[in-house]
Amino acid sequence: MRRPFVAALALVGILVCLAVFWGFGRSRLPRPSASSGRATVEFLDVGQGDAILIRSPEGKSALVDAGPSRRVVDQLRERGVRSLDLVVVSHHHIDHYGGMGEVIRAFRPRVFLDADSPHVTPSYLALLRRVEEEGITAIRAGPKARKIDLGSVRLTVLPQVPSDRSDENNNSIGIRVEFGQFSALLTGDSEKAERRWWIKNAPSLCADVDVLKLAHHGSRNGTDPAWLELTRPRLAVASMGRGNDFGHPHPETLALLRSFGIPLKRTDEDGSVQVRTDGRAWSPGGREWADRSDPPLRDDRLK
Ligand SMILES: [Zn+2]
Repeated sequence: MRRPFVAALALVGILVCLAVFWGFGRSRLPRPSASSGRATVEFLDVGQGDAILIRSPEGKSALVDAGPSRRVVDQLRERGVRSLDLVVVSHHHIDHYGGMGEVIRAFRPRVFLDADSPHVTPSYLALLRRVEEEGITAIRAGPKARKIDLGSVRLTVLPQVPSDRSDENNNSIGIRVEFGQFSALLTGDSEKAERRWWIKNAPSLCADVDVLKLAHHGSRNGTDPAWLELTRPRLAVASMGRGNDFGHPHPETLALLRSFGIPLKRTDEDGSVQVRTDGRAWSPGGREWADRSDPPLRDDRLK
């Protein structure tokens, strides 16, 4: 009896080791959970700035940028967010990290990701000090793409473009969000030079997305024909404040989207824009969604 028992135990041990190794080593996309949960990507209306909340069916969440002020904290609370697994500062401009200190204080995220940028200010250094004081794990975008799984939602951080000392927008972090067959692309305030680098060096990570966040709040330097030809979005979303002083979105960007037949949602007119997906269909804008009989997502299912 004793020897077969030991052999069985050893076999179980080997299988467990193999499973763990396989789990860490595999790079293919995680599958949406068997309970056919829903993921959401929500472009919050934080005025003139960016803040994008990503939630997985397993209840994990990430916030990419935190807008210019603490307004984002109330919006997260209104949505039932109690904790954040990951926060990201796409680049070191205040309309992207102004609310991050308060977010960190309120939600104590597990991981803080920022860009490897030479542009630092006293207020940004104060934010980094807070990250350190709170004991949050800090990671940086690097020259190689990096995958972060948020439950069954996969975030792929695009390779960090070589530093641009004159234009901080071009140090923006790019993130491809994937859940099943659904994908979205977020690239901060990246301008043409940075996007051109990604087109050349990481085209597959940018290609063929369902939803594209227009870079730089829909300004003229945030979108160009080559970028739309590669990303081929079915919906564009842009964040900007009502009646902003920057002229966002730029009429040329709007005309370019029209010429490509790409619809646009904008936070100054539409308020917060929530994209929901079950990993196959998505809304608003996904063609399949209307054909499906599933009831619309209720926010409380993600809490
Ligand atoms: Zn900005």
